[in-house]
Amino acid sequence: MLSIKNLHASVEEGQEILKGLNLEVKAGEVHAIMGPNGSGKSTLASVLAGKDGYEVTEGSVDFDGTDLLDLKAEDRAKEGMFLAFQYPVEIPGVSNINFLRTAINEIREYRKEDKISAKDFLAKVKDASNLVELDNKLASRAVNVGFSGGEKKRNEIFQMAMLEPKLAILDETDSGLDIDALRIVSEGVNKLKSEKNAIILITHYQRLLDYIKPDFVHVLSEGQIIKTGTKELALELEDKGYDWINEETAQ
Ligand code: ADP
Ligand code: MG
Ligand code: MG
Repeated sequence: MLSIKNLHASVEEGQEILKGLNLEVKAGEVHAIMGPNGSGKSTLASVLAGKDGYEVTEGSVDFDGTDLLDLKAEDRAKEGMFLAFQYPVEIPGVSNINFLRTAINEIREYRKEDKISAKDFLAKVKDASNLVELDNKLASRAVNVGFSGGEKKRNEIFQMAMLEPKLAILDETDSGLDIDALRIVSEGVNKLKSEKNAIILITHYQRLLDYIKPDFVHVLSEGQIIKTGTKELALELEDKGYDWINEETAQ
């Protein structure tokens, strides 16, 4: 589904952040990406989503048979990529519902499908809001405006449930969540998991991985994936920090 080869990317000021990153994600898999602050985790998510302000200088990204880097950000979303931001954006004046109806219809138009019917849309809203226990009122309010931190994160998963992406990238969706919200967000993600889609979880903490079981855990350090393992690696990181891996890599 996703094949990243030797990816190098810089920020506009010219500083290189991703320095030859490789990652292979297959349908049905959950990958966790961990790593110290400033290692490039959010940059990777932004580069994959096609956010402005980053320049890819080398390498390739294949997304389900298409050259991802050739696509505009909006077309990446239409191809089925979804990014839940570390800091969800507020969109004053646009209700959550209208935002999602427009997004779903844009995706359908791109795929040459008919618009979603009012009945199907409402049924989807009901299912998705139940999934993350999102208050009905939040669905009709302006996107994220005045939402608490936890509500914003839940809303990201609500949006994900509505859009049914092939690949979802969750950038620190767990940070700032209390235990209840963490459970709700994780259950939402687990229910959306299938053999057809894949999930990349970017997280600082092992805690999230108690709820969402990753198939692989990767350590990102200074713009490269320097170690790959399983859930046990996350536990080891929690226990010993990141320095030992850098030393191991240096050797
Ligand atoms: P992480 O998410 O792993 O904490 P980031 O990807 O946010 O790390 O940042 C990686 C490095 O890139 C940091 O040193 C950060 O300061 C730098 N960086 C990220 N975005 C920009 C930007 N727009 N301009 C300058 N530096 C940036
Ligand atoms: Mg290189
Ligand atoms: Mg980050």
